[in-house]
Amino acid sequence: MDTYGTPRLAITHGEGARLWDADGREYLDFVGGIAVTSLGTGHPAVVRAVCDQIALLGHVSNLFIAEPTVALAERLLSLAGRPGRVYFGNSGAEAVEAAFKIGRRTGRPHMVAAAGGFHGRTMGALALTGQPKKHEGFQPLPGEVTHVPYGDADALRAAVTTDTALVILEPVQGENGVVVPPEGYLAAAREITRATGTLLVLDEVQTGIGRTGHWFAGQAQGVEADVVTLAKGLGGGLPIGAALAFGPAAELLTPGTHASTFGGNPVSCAAALAVLETIESEGLLQRVKDAGERLRDGIWSLGHPLVDRVRGAGLLLGIVLTEPLAPRVQQAAERAGLLVNAVAPDVIRLAPPLILTDGEVNAFLAALPGVLDAVDTRTGEAAAP
Ligand code: PMP
Repeated sequence: MDTYGTPRLAITHGEGARLWDADGREYLDFVGGIAVTSLGTGHPAVVRAVCDQIALLGHVSNLFIAEPTVALAERLLSLAGRPGRVYFGNSGAEAVEAAFKIGRRTGRPHMVAAAGGFHGRTMGALALTGQPKKHEGFQPLPGEVTHVPYGDADALRAAVTTDTALVILEPVQGENGVVVPPEGYLAAAREITRATGTLLVLDEVQTGIGRTGHWFAGQAQGVEADVVTLAKGLGGGLPIGAALAFGPAAELLTPGTHASTFGGNPVSCAAALAVLETIESEGLLQRVKDAGERLRDGIWSLGHPLVDRVRGAGLLLGIVLTEPLAPRVQQAAERAGLLVNAVAPDVIRLAPPLILTDGEVNAFLAALPGVLDAVDTRTGEAAAP
C-alpha cells in the first residue's frame, strides 16, 4: 500500500448510509467518511451539482471568481447571520491555517488552545493541536502556544492576556474522543477573549454544518466567534475548507495576503451549496436531533456492561466503554456489517450521514449488543477459552 494511511478495507461504492467493499459485502456506515459524507454516499443533489458544475466550469484559479464560490460565501455568512469574509481552502487544516494567520496579523505573539484538541496536521494547525504525540518529531512548531485543560474556564482565564492573539476551541472535541465541555464553557471563552481583545476561533470543522443538529454548534449556544473554521461535512464528500471571519477579524487578512490555487474550487463550492440546500429542504437539522436522540437513548437503554456512557451532540456521538476495547469493538462491528470508528482506546465514535433513517438507527441498535458481546470479557466469545 503506497499511501501514508493504514487502511484494511477497500470500499468500492455506496448509497446513502450503506457502503460496499471489494468483496461485495454491505456495511451500515456510521463513520460517514469521518463526519464528511453529510448526505451519505451518492446523494442525487450532490451528484447533480458536481456533474453540472464540472461540465460548466471546473476551475478558474484565484485570479478570477466563479459564481458558486461567491454564492457559497454569501450563503455561509447568511447562515451565520453576520457580515464577514470567507477564505476557502481544501481541508480543515487549511481553514485552521487561515485562522492562525489571522491571529498573526493581530501583532500579538501568543495563542491559546485546549489540551486534547485537534486542529489538523499542517504546521500551524499542528502547533494548535493539543495532542503531544502528534507533535513528536515535528518540533520546532510555529507560534507560542499554551494548551489549557479543555472545559476549564478558570484555566482559560488565567492563560489569556492582552498578548494573546487568539483562543481556538472545538465546541466538542471530536478527535479526542467526542468530549463535550461543561455548559457555558464557550460563553465563558467569549467573555474572556472579549475582555482582552483576543480573537475567539471556534473550530467547527467536525461540529459544523448540521452535525450537532445546528448549522453551527457555537451559534446554537449563542456564542459569536470572531473566526469559525469549517470543512468535513461542508462539501458532502468533496474537499473544501472555509474560515469565516467576522467584524474586525475579517479585515486582518486582506486580498493578496493569503491564497490557495484550488481554494474556492467551483465544483467543491457547488457541492457545498447542494449540501446546504438539501439540509434545509429535507429538514435535516431536526432529523439529526431526532436520530441522535434515538441513537443515544437506544444505546444507553441496552444496559450493556461494556457501555459506560454515551456522550456528544446530534449525530456526533461517543460510546464510552468501561474498558479500553474500542479497537476490538470496531473490528467486531466490521464483521457484523457495521462501520464505526475507535477514536480513542475506550471510545467508539459515531458520525453517520445526517440523512440517517429510523430504520438504520434500529438496524444499528439491533446489531450492537452482539458486537459488544463478542468482545466483552464477561459475556462474549472473548470470555470463551
Ligand atoms: N479541526 C478539527 C476539529 C478536526 O476534527 C479536523 C479533522 N479531524 C481538522 C481540524 C483537520 O481537518 P483535515 O483533516 O481536513 O485537515
